[in-house]
Amino acid sequence: MSPENLRRYLEYYRDLGFTTVYRRTGVEGQEPRVEEAAPELQGQPRVSAPPAEAPPQPAMQLPPLAPPGDTLLKIIADIGDCRRCRLHEGRNKIVFGVGNEASPLVFVGEGPGADEDAQGIPFVGKAGQLLTQMIEGTAKKEGIPLLRSQIYICNVVKCRPPGNRTPEPDEMEICGQFLYRQLSAIKPKAICALGGTAARALTGHKEGVTKMRGKWFKWQEFPVMVTYHPSYLLRPYNQDAKREAWEDLKKVLHFVYD
Ligand code: URA
Repeated sequence: MSPENLRRYLEYYRDLGFTTVYRRTGVEGQEPRVEEAAPELQGQPRVSAPPAEAPPQPAMQLPPLAPPGDTLLKIIADIGDCRRCRLHEGRNKIVFGVGNEASPLVFVGEGPGADEDAQGIPFVGKAGQLLTQMIEGTAKKEGIPLLRSQIYICNVVKCRPPGNRTPEPDEMEICGQFLYRQLSAIKPKAICALGGTAARALTGHKEGVTKMRGKWFKWQEFPVMVTYHPSYLLRPYNQDAKREAWEDLKKVLHFVYD
């Protein structure tokens, strides 16, 4: 298993409430040896390790990251009245996502702002209006009949960070599990990451958006196009970035709908 997949599994189990894991090593048929807690989980309360004389356990089959038959409704139900991270403290509404569950294209932003927090719908404020114009305007110019309501839009974190600050890594990791389940349930043909937070969450790359934009990456088997966040494009001196974002969008739309 790759380190990245192992990390995802550990995060998945942590969100299910497991705070300690142990690792059995050694040659098959020999007594298993209990090793230290995984680094990600160190510092958290330990569940007592099995005694050395415990009979060898059959190898555990890890479940897929997204439960089989997962749907957006099940994910919403699992999120419930979420209090898994500190962002729940200031939120009004959980902003899960909006649009077509069978969409071949998903846009992923950073996290809700004030308007989204009030309405419970992603991208309904100024940045959202620009995103709608960009999607529908570019599609129309390119001869692709497409309305915003036909695609799916969501964010990395589902609760508004105070003062619209960037989500912290632990908040992104906890909420990221639900984003990954949303994407796995939708199975889009492509994902468009809006801005650095979404790009980092989906690609694992740490470069700035300026370096990553316009290029294809992958989240699992799904192609990910990175582009600027519409809030960034709203700043008056960003004409070049606007033009570039339109180019990026054209690429995604043709990839998905041609
Ligand atoms: N910015 C985001 O990243 N997401 C929203 O839903 C709104 C603004």
